[in-house]
Amino acid sequence: MARILVIEDDDTIGAALESALRASGYQVSWQRTGGSGLVEARDSGAGLVLLDLGLPDRDGVDVCRELRSCLPTAVIVILTARQDEMDVITGLDAGADDYLTKPFKVSEVLARIRAHLRRSNTVPAVPEQPAELVLGSLIIDVASRRVHVAGVEMALRARELDLLIRLATDAGTAVSRERLMSDVWDENWFGSTKTLDVHMVALRRKLSDAAAQAGAEAAAALPAVTTLRGHGYRLDPPPGL
Ligand code: CA
Repeated sequence: MARILVIEDDDTIGAALESALRASGYQVSWQRTGGSGLVEARDSGAGLVLLDLGLPDRDGVDVCRELRSCLPTAVIVILTARQDEMDVITGLDAGADDYLTKPFKVSEVLARIRAHLRRSNTVPAVPEQPAELVLGSLIIDVASRRVHVAGVEMALRARELDLLIRLATDAGTAVSRERLMSDVWDENWFGSTKTLDVHMVALRRKLSDAAAQAGAEAAAALPAVTTLRGHGYRLDPPPGL
């Protein structure tokens, strides 16, 4: 069973998570500060980390960044009481894979953990994919997982890149939210598709940042992500392509 590290200063939440995770058979280490959480991560490792962003000693986002560098393959789920979407995006940019907004049900946390661990233990089924996807000034090297806009490399998180590849594979075609959740996240995804919107916000922001850096000509030749209300998203090739 996977080893789970809980970094949470709230006694009630920490104790509830610890006992529920133990009851589910996981090895659990509960730490109340960012400092002790990082020591534990370095000393004992973890397959999955539940990280509260509001910690007494350290900024949760900084802790997330350090966790990501010392546990490169662990799943990091941030726990936040903050309603500000920017905090979630900052946390995801700092290397978190997912987030849960407080208050949450322990059963919800357990289900999310099962989905993540199932996914990280299985080799994802990769459909037939070209080695490279070229859409105007956007070049996605699928094999090396690098993305360039007119020579400017984009720093994308794993899920943002998976999302971009999924949309680019069917460029010009509407892809439903359910399809994206199941192809990019987990075939047994459940609950809210809010995480999709959060990743899409980050992806769009990075695309426009890259376009701004690459210049007007490259920006004009960039595909655009179109939101289809009540359905999903579509990546539109640039005009003339
Ligand atoms: Ca807290």
